[in-house]
Amino acid sequence: MLLKERVAIVTGGAGVNGLGFATARMLAEHGARVVILDLPGANPAGAAAELGAGHLGLAADITDKVQCDAAARAVLERYGRIDILFNNAGITQPRKTLDISAADYDAVLDVSLRGTLLMSQAVLPAMQQQQSGSIVNTSSVSAQRGGGILGGPHYSAAKAGVLGLTRAMAREFGPDGIRVNAITPGLIATDIIKGKLTEERKGEIASDIPLARLGRASDIAGAVVFLASDLSAYCTGITLDVNGGMLI
Ligand code: NAD
Repeated sequence: MLLKERVAIVTGGAGVNGLGFATARMLAEHGARVVILDLPGANPAGAAAELGAGHLGLAADITDKVQCDAAARAVLERYGRIDILFNNAGITQPRKTLDISAADYDAVLDVSLRGTLLMSQAVLPAMQQQQSGSIVNTSSVSAQRGGGILGGPHYSAAKAGVLGLTRAMAREFGPDGIRVNAITPGLIATDIIKGKLTEERKGEIASDIPLARLGRASDIAGAVVFLASDLSAYCTGITLDVNGGMLI
């Protein structure tokens, strides 16, 4: 099995329609023991139970360093190692530049960028000790296009920041056997877009995508499993576009 004996943390993984849960399920199908980490209200324990026995749900806010470190400690106490971190949690706000308040900016950057850094800091010492590990960070096509369909410029900035963080960490931790890569999802049908786009608008967007459809959560899960596993053993610092050809 591709991920047998591997221990994977998926942040923001509790929403059953989200990219995190779909990825958690695929990681588990490939043999990983999966830790679903999410805000307490999202019921991470319930989501982990849906994966079956042997998986773990942890409540934590990834914008808080103390909670990130405590979560990593809990994983190490339970499983003794951390092989994979999928930094998936993120929030979006559809805003124009002039409408972004300081609080909006902080909220969006705190989850996507600060959360990605804090969770990485929490797991990296264990990965260094193991001399192995794979971190997959979630950016977005919004970082590349410079304009989001759903996120504002602060979201694009946060997701562009994730790419910089990914490359810098890849360079720093490559000698420790730790790979750090990013995915840039296109528009994927999850709760994040629910109620925000009319069917007509979705159709218009799809007609502009070479693969002629919005993405599915399983499209992202496959990309993450690739980056998390030894199939991508010689990839680090890369950006894997999963967008149906949106940028061609
Ligand atoms: P989602 O809203 O369904 O899931 C996000 C999860 O993050 C939720 O379970 C939420 O509870 C959790 N979360 C939010 N703040 C948190 C915090 N402070 N601590 C811990 N958990 C927190 O979103 P999704 O569509 O599944 O998106 C997942 C990721 O993919 C996000 O980073 C998003 O920006 C990115 N993305 C999504 C799309 C898309 O079209 N769906 C496109 C590009 C990028």
